[in-house]
Amino acid sequence: TRLNVAPVPPDEIFALNHAFGIDTHPQKVSLGVGVYRTDDGKPWPLPVVQKAEKELEAASDAFRHEYTAIEGDAPFLPMARDLMFGFEGKPSEEEAKARIATVQTVAGTGANHLGALFLAHHMKPRTVWLSNPSWANHMTIWELAGIPRKTYPYYHASTRAFDFDGMMSSLENDAEEGDVVLLHACAHNPTGLDPNKEQWIAIAELCERKKLFPFFDSAYQGFASGSVEEDAWAVRYFFTAKPDMEMCVAQSFSKNFGLYGDRVGAFHYVTNRASSSLRDVVVNNLCHLIRGEFSMGPRAGTAIVKKVLSDEALVKEWHADLKVMSSRIRSMREALYAELVRLQTPGTWEHIVQQNGMFSYTGLTLKQVYALKDQYHIYLLKSGRASISGLSKKNVAYVAQAIDDVVRN
Ligand code: PMP
Repeated sequence: TRLNVAPVPPDEIFALNHAFGIDTHPQKVSLGVGVYRTDDGKPWPLPVVQKAEKELEAASDAFRHEYTAIEGDAPFLPMARDLMFGFEGKPSEEEAKARIATVQTVAGTGANHLGALFLAHHMKPRTVWLSNPSWANHMTIWELAGIPRKTYPYYHASTRAFDFDGMMSSLENDAEEGDVVLLHACAHNPTGLDPNKEQWIAIAELCERKKLFPFFDSAYQGFASGSVEEDAWAVRYFFTAKPDMEMCVAQSFSKNFGLYGDRVGAFHYVTNRASSSLRDVVVNNLCHLIRGEFSMGPRAGTAIVKKVLSDEALVKEWHADLKVMSSRIRSMREALYAELVRLQTPGTWEHIVQQNGMFSYTGLTLKQVYALKDQYHIYLLKSGRASISGLSKKNVAYVAQAIDDVVRN
């Protein structure tokens, strides 16, 4: 062969998911991959999505399998933008809208990737700063884009809290003008720890003063708190309070619409001038990258999102579905915490209820993670990240008992 290939380690999350799938133990529990599950451990196609699907089926549009456009499905783009930035159709905001170049992507991963590639071509940042820890795929995405990576402190292991001071001093002292700073818009993956509003304001000010380039990854809007406004607060704050700053937003619809395999997403490049000609050139360059790579985003999932977002009654139902998911996750955090307290498991466990979104960064060690898998058939990431939605009323006592046992031994 003329190939020069060395093995790449398998993706931890998907490998773990596979191991879980073939495990035949009746009490096995998957706390690995970040997907929503019901209290019966089943996937939950959102009721509003099922309704939209039925309506789309009934309409049987002859164009439903046709090509859309390179930038994506035309009506979907402003809907995605308005959901992220909060315009809600207000005409007074035409100027602000002229700052945003939006294209459809292959879900959130594709949006992160397209953004990284676009910056690599047109901004050539010296460094991208990722939180330590971060979603592992951020590493891969920026590696493939050829941008050197550095990390800023994010997690304080001893207090299991967000290390705001560490993050700020690292970016203050070590980041340089033009560096990209990757920020999780909400529900930080894997720690479940987000800056509060005051801290976001300070981060925005630091980026502005040091001329750092914010790149938001928004994968959990509405899914984390149950409110699409609340979960978009940081993005909207940067956008409105710092109009001189440019930034990017990678937007995923995988979790908040439960459209994981449909690959629905958008990428937004925010310029610092309300200039539709600049916006159009940015879109045009993004289209060049899209065309050479995947021609256009897929059609079926955006049709569903469009159907929901264009109908006020369906939007209300969607918001109710978001509440169902976020509240069940919250109640599972509380149930796990209560069980650990009841068992008097050594250590402190408040962080489980204080963290936000899909994941808990449990603080369990690698040895304990392996023991959970080997002795109890409970699967979580080596970092101790647990996907809370894998918990249910039926298995939470079992999981707590198992954690208690591995912590004590
Ligand atoms: N960013 C983060 C932080 C995520 O957790 C995820 C989902 N695991 C994504 C992006 C993108 O997911 P998808 O490509 O499925 O939309």
